[in-house]
Amino acid sequence: MKPYVGEASSDYTDRCAYARTPSSPKCVSRATVHVLVDDPTHGVVALATCTEHSPHARAAAPVVGEHRYGSFCGLPSTRWAGDRCELDDSGCEPGVSR
Ligand SMILES: [Zn+2]
Ligand SMILES: [Zn+2]
Repeated sequence: MKPYVGEASSDYTDRCAYARTPSSPKCVSRATVHVLVDDPTHGVVALATCTEHSPHARAAAPVVGEHRYGSFCGLPSTRWAGDRCELDDSGCEPGVSR
């Protein structure tokens, strides 16, 4: 089955968000790659993935950015800033379209 972007998650972890199916448990590996994709359904979203599952993340939707998973990645009040995520006080979450 072709990989796709699942529903947005509100749990802020540094773990890979990959799951084999929507009802499967998520991968428990530490995220190493942050992939920004332009998904037709969810808009531009940032995906946290481990090295093993990064090809799935890149295949899920057209990739518009990617960087190594850093200390701010996936946290609230951060935004995508090219080669990293950085703190942002605008109140918008990274990559979440409205
Ligand atoms: Zn994984
Ligand atoms: Zn990031």
